[in-house]
Amino acid sequence: MNDIRQNLEHIQERIHKAAVQSNRNPEGIRLVAISKTVPLERIRSAIAAGVTILGENYIQEARSKINALSDSPVSVSWHFTGHLQSNKARYAVRLFDLIHTVDSVKLAQALNHEAAKINKVQAILIQVNISGESTKSGVSPHEVERLIREIGTLENIKIEGLMTMPPYFDNPEMARPYFDQLRELRNVLQQNLNLAAFPGTSLHALSMGMSGDFETAIAAGATLVRVGTAIFGERS
Ligand SMILES: *Cc1c(COP(=O)(O)O)cnc(C)c1O
Repeated sequence: MNDIRQNLEHIQERIHKAAVQSNRNPEGIRLVAISKTVPLERIRSAIAAGVTILGENYIQEARSKINALSDSPVSVSWHFTGHLQSNKARYAVRLFDLIHTVDSVKLAQALNHEAAKINKVQAILIQVNISGESTKSGVSPHEVERLIREIGTLENIKIEGLMTMPPYFDNPEMARPYFDQLRELRNVLQQNLNLAAFPGTSLHALSMGMSGDFETAIAAGATLVRVGTAIFGERS
């Protein structure tokens, strides 16, 4: 499984380089290794190679993996990056340190309710559908402020920022306007919202960029990049 170690080193170098090129501190960018459909042994290799954050898209799959890996000598953080249904909120708050994909008040309320039961303040990101593609989850940009005003009052939720998935392009530079728009939206929100009125809401995080375009996303301000294939290889 040396391939994973090599892939990871290569990705970390590229993240570092992209950060330096845009005058950013590389420490401000966290790599989320997206391990959906990846078998346990390969995830173990990734952890041994230094991965500290893993991202999963399906609750059932994540549950069994997280259980199986609970004996791991190093502790890792799990993020949820798939589409989440309110009826799975109970599991989501127990399994994940950060949920990247909140796109409704109803879902946030369900998470808040379940988080309260276990005395947790659940960190979340708001997923924004910048492109307006009907196949994509996420709220449209003009709805984000209203959503944050409602979700920001929930005691057991803290909104750390925004997440987006641009349309797929062969040329990563084509994704740049979508990444720029997410950052601009965040900046406008920070000005419009009196964040002091929403304890826990910081909006510092921007989750954007995948295997094909994470360097472009870093140039646009990403603080979390979600990389699967470039670490683990093609998913079966
Ligand atoms: C699968 C997935 C990724 C990783 O995609 P790669 O192209 O394999 O890097 C990132 N983010 C989300 C939300 C995903 O579902």
